[in-house]
Amino acid sequence: MAILVTGGLGYIGSHTVVELLNNGFDVVIVDDLSNSEKFILKNIEEVAGKKPVFYPFDLKRRELLTQVFDAHQIDGCINFAASKAVGESQVKPIDYYENNLFTLINILQEFKERGISNFIFSSSCTVYGQAEKMPIDENTPLKMPESVYGKTKQMGEEILIDFAKAYNRKISLLRYFNPIGAHPSGKLGELPLGIPNNLIPYVTQTAAGIREKLSIWGDDYDTEDGTAVRDYIYVVDLAKAHVSALKNLLHSNEETVIDIFNLGTGKGSSVLEVVKAFETANDVKVPYQICARREGDITIAYANADKAEKELHWKSETSLEESLRTVWKWQQYLDSRAV
Ligand code: UDP
Repeated sequence: MAILVTGGLGYIGSHTVVELLNNGFDVVIVDDLSNSEKFILKNIEEVAGKKPVFYPFDLKRRELLTQVFDAHQIDGCINFAASKAVGESQVKPIDYYENNLFTLINILQEFKERGISNFIFSSSCTVYGQAEKMPIDENTPLKMPESVYGKTKQMGEEILIDFAKAYNRKISLLRYFNPIGAHPSGKLGELPLGIPNNLIPYVTQTAAGIREKLSIWGDDYDTEDGTAVRDYIYVVDLAKAHVSALKNLLHSNEETVIDIFNLGTGKGSSVLEVVKAFETANDVKVPYQICARREGDITIAYANADKAEKELHWKSETSLEESLRTVWKWQQYLDSRAV
């Protein structure tokens, strides 16, 4: 049984490929290396002790995708391939719609024509915007996100729901909160392109001396210490949730399944708490300055992940400090490669 993993050399994708291989699935990766590097493939193999099939091409190339489906018995897809920089999405909206939605439609055309079911989509808690009530469960009303990136996630969800309903297929929409951390081996992790936008890579690079100071975007939020609160979920825990979600689809006797799960820890942490946890976990200093709020940021978001626990028998297991230790190990691995 082969699972197509698009973006399988990316951050969450690579960790999920390892978990799929550990669970006995054959994996076919399509990744255009636009936000990843080839050595990740070798590292996946080292970590999992098995080799996934790899095709380096852009999913917009439908004719190449057709060849992959012709060559392999694909029984499902986990779709990670997407552009994900919120700021960039505002200045390149058409590229984002093309990269994130056109590619999704190409895969769904293959699924439709070949009668394939079992599609897992990387969505995001950004579809909830600033929710009125915490924690956020799956019944929380959706708000069309402000960013083009966020809109592609919400539109992707809608496309998949229509696909499942019209053709009687099984889909799972996974709404991630804030994925962090790296593989405990120190061989897989996030590879930020240029100056990181996300908190953890910026914290790590500051601790490593690559950046001078972390800017904390706002300490005047209505939270305990004034900095914004998020739910930071360990990437290996998140990867395991994908395997559980896939098994849930594969084992379901229903013809049509539309699953939606929030994937988080259920616990909110402020930016300052994250910085302190990183310093304690790794015994390093992270110089920082308080700056004005970043446009578009919400105050607080953390998950109610009870549905995933009940239906997928999955829950987050790794503490914030433990996952921050793995990030530091990954940074040291990157530093050793750069020498
Ligand atoms: N953040 C920060 N400095 C940075 C990057 C992020 O203070 O250099 C804050 C950001 O304002 C937010 C939190 O860290 O409150 C998480 O931001 P990130 O971009 O990692 O994820 P988001 O929740 O925005 O998707």
